[in-house]
Amino acid sequence: MTKFSKDVVPGGHPMVRAEGVHKSFGHAHILKGIDLEVNPREVFCLIGPSGSGKSTFLRCINHLEKISAGRLYVDGRLVGYRQHGDKLYELKEKEVSAQRRDIGMVFQRFNLFPHMTALENVMEAPVQVRRESRAVARERAQRLLDRVGLGDRTGHYPAQLSGGQQQRVAIARALAMEPKLMLFDEPTSALDPELVGEVLDVMRDLAEDGMTMIVVTHEMGFAREVGDSLVFMDDGVVVESGHPREVLAHPQHDRTKAFLSKVL
Ligand code: ADP
Ligand code: MG
Repeated sequence: MTKFSKDVVPGGHPMVRAEGVHKSFGHAHILKGIDLEVNPREVFCLIGPSGSGKSTFLRCINHLEKISAGRLYVDGRLVGYRQHGDKLYELKEKEVSAQRRDIGMVFQRFNLFPHMTALENVMEAPVQVRRESRAVARERAQRLLDRVGLGDRTGHYPAQLSGGQQQRVAIARALAMEPKLMLFDEPTSALDPELVGEVLDVMRDLAEDGMTMIVVTHEMGFAREVGDSLVFMDDGVVVESGHPREVLAHPQHDRTKAFLSKVL
């Protein structure tokens, strides 16, 4: 008979786990002990006032910043470090790039390469980073652009596309590396209001497809309808978390209530 330990869920670990994560820039203490877990296939929404540390937290997950204390894991592996006994060793640049490859990130500003068409933008990373053949990369890019509703815009340059279309190209570009985790940092904040919906629709489609997503957003409708959990962050700490409908309808803390009264 095979024995299973009660403590071990076969193959089960969170996609992201933060344990007492701190981040300082010089004397500025920005993240002050973040604890949270994001499970596979979960849509995890992160809200909070400007300056509360939301982007910094995403940047730590994606190796754009180094945490100052605590532990951060993606898919069961320490971000940026290897643990040996009770010592931590920084990963080499190559190992860090390998970890980052599994994470897609979409920013408020789309940051597409202006001199490349939509198709070339989506093909770029697989060809340059993964050394994939152009034919294979092109086929996938075409499929991804179809998926975000831009199958007929593959030859357009960013300047010829609307903000919403550019952001959908940016999402396709992130998906081209076949990430297991997608980070969205206020992906609709820079868009004209009439273009927000088309980007949220693409994100909803991704969610339904089972992508694990951390979404920093002020779109409370999206959080309520698509989110599996919602965290309210303020001044570098998690103030409150729970199911989005619950947190939005019945916030427990005064700071959450004050914030929601401004954005809802
Ligand atoms: P949010 O995304 O919630 O608006 P941020 O994570 O962007 O907040 O910023 C939190 C705080 O950290 C802000 O006060 C910001 O000025 C500061 N900060 C962010 N990045 C840096 C940096 N590279 N150097 C110094 N301070 C920074
Ligand atoms: Mg931010």
